[in-house]
Amino acid sequence: MAGPSIGPHSHSGVYTDGSDLYTRLLEGAPEGPGRIVEALDGHTYRSFAPTATKLSAMIKVGMEQWPFKEGSRVLYLGAATGTTVSFVSDICPKGQVYAVEFAPEPFRKLVEMARERPNVVPILADARNPSAYTVQVGTPVDVLYQDVAQRDQWEIAERNAKALLAPGGMLILVVKARSIDVSKPASMIYTEVQERAAVGNIDVLEMLDLGAYDRDHAVLVSRRR
Ligand code: SAM
Repeated sequence: MAGPSIGPHSHSGVYTDGSDLYTRLLEGAPEGPGRIVEALDGHTYRSFAPTATKLSAMIKVGMEQWPFKEGSRVLYLGAATGTTVSFVSDICPKGQVYAVEFAPEPFRKLVEMARERPNVVPILADARNPSAYTVQVGTPVDVLYQDVAQRDQWEIAERNAKALLAPGGMLILVVKARSIDVSKPASMIYTEVQERAAVGNIDVLEMLDLGAYDRDHAVLVSRRR
């Protein structure tokens, strides 16, 4: 039976059949998370569902400033077992994803995943201390993506942006309101994060509420000056 017709989405490296989102499976990579679809064009795609990863949810809630290109170098903080990292690896097949995780258990799985994805470099380190991986990352990256449940998540992002994000590079920060302060409404925390970003050398481009998919989560889309 012929597969479905899947074509490029407006966001580089993302594909659609008109309703659902997909990434094109990186050549040689194992199937990994996401339903596999053999499309009419002969390529293998993976479903990129908003319930599986916040990166897809960002598109579904209307993200306009997509930071990824096929050759982007990405520093990813809070990689866990690598679900979203694997999608970034599909989206940037000619780039490199430096995936930082500090917990040994998920890191083991991340290393296994990276064995068959040559554009993923797993790094066991605390993202509070970017000097621990500056040498491994080398030149500043095009995209800094952060998803860590820490009270000091803004400080972690700011420190990494200063150390390793190229001028003009984009910072995509998943804001986890409950980790910052359980006593304040999430909307107040989102405003505070935007204000803090604006006084640094970061231009805020979009602030998207991910609440439709992840309660008390938002994403700050921004650019280093
Ligand atoms: N981003 C992942 C995804 O979408 O597939 C899920 C990330 S999970 C919400 C957050 C991860 O951040 C956890 O695995 C946790 O161990 C890691 N983490 C938290 N604080 C960290 C830190 N300071 N340095 C490195 N990793 C950290």
